[in-house]
Amino acid sequence: MKCALVRPDGATVHAERHATDAARGPEAVVDTILDVAEGLAGKARADGLTPVACGIAVPGVVDEARGIAVWSANVGFRDVPLRELAGTRLGLPTALGHDVRAGGLAEARLGAGRDAGHVLFVAIGTGIAAAHVVDGSAAVGAHGAAGEIGHILVRPDGPRCGCGRPGCLEAVASASAIGRRYAELSGAPATAAEVADRAAAGEPLARRVWREAVEALADGLATGQALFDVATIVIGGGLAQAGPRLFDPLRAALRERLTFHREPRLVAAALGDEAGCLGAALLALDTLAKESR
Ligand SMILES: [Zn+2]
Repeated sequence: MKCALVRPDGATVHAERHATDAARGPEAVVDTILDVAEGLAGKARADGLTPVACGIAVPGVVDEARGIAVWSANVGFRDVPLRELAGTRLGLPTALGHDVRAGGLAEARLGAGRDAGHVLFVAIGTGIAAAHVVDGSAAVGAHGAAGEIGHILVRPDGPRCGCGRPGCLEAVASASAIGRRYAELSGAPATAAEVADRAAAGEPLARRVWREAVEALADGLATGQALFDVATIVIGGGLAQAGPRLFDPLRAALRERLTFHREPRLVAAALGDEAGCLGAALLALDTLAKESR
C-alpha cells in the first residue's frame, strides 16, 4: 500500500508504504487501510496541517458512485463499503476509486499525459489494464469495470487468460506472459526484463518472444485508439521500464496498424508506482470540489 499526505497542488508532503499481506484475508486488509488512513490524518494534524479529504484506490471491480469495492481477485474484496467505512472512521469526505483508473488520472493531470486532454493510460505488469481519461476524469463504466483492455481478444488460439478465455491481450503481452512464453520455449525461466535484454543482445528466441508480445500490444493499442481517439497513450507498469526496447518497436507496430485514425503520442509514464496514490488524492480533492458546488 502506497500512502501519502498530498497538498491540493499535487505535491506529496509525506509518504508511507505498508504491506498489504492479502493472505490475511480482506477484513484484515480493510482494518489496515483504515488504521493507516487514520494514522496519516493524525500525523497531518500533529504537523500543523489540516486533512480535508481522504482518497482510497483499490484493485478489482470498484463501484465508484456507491463507494464499494465490489470484487478483487488479489485482495478478496466482495462488496466492501470502503468509502463509508473510511469516511466514518476519519470523519472526512472520502472517495473510493480503482487503482489503475486513479493512476491514469494522475498521469493525465500531473504526469506524462499532462495537457493532452484525451489520454489512454495502459499499465502493463502482471496483467494489463487501462484508464481512459478525458479532461481530467476517468471513465468508470456502467459496472465499474471500464478499461479492461487486457481482456481484448487478440489471439483466439492463444494461451488461456486468467479470466478463463484463450487469447486475451494480457495472456500474450503482460510482463508475466512474456516470461512464461520464453520459459515455455526455452525451458529456462526468465523475467520480461531479461527477455528484453536478451532480445536486444540478438538472441533469436528472445527476439521472437519480444516481437510477438509487441505485436499483440500494438493490436490492443490500435483497438484502443479506434475506440477512444486519444492524443496521448501513456504506458506504465513494469514493462515500461524496458524503455526504447519497448517504445521504438511498439510505436512502429502501432503506426502500421493505423489507417485513418490519427497516431497518438506514445510515452512512458512519469509518476512511477506512486501514480495510483496521487490519483487517490486527486479523487479526494474532486469529491471536495463537488461538495462545495
Ligand atoms: Zn482475459
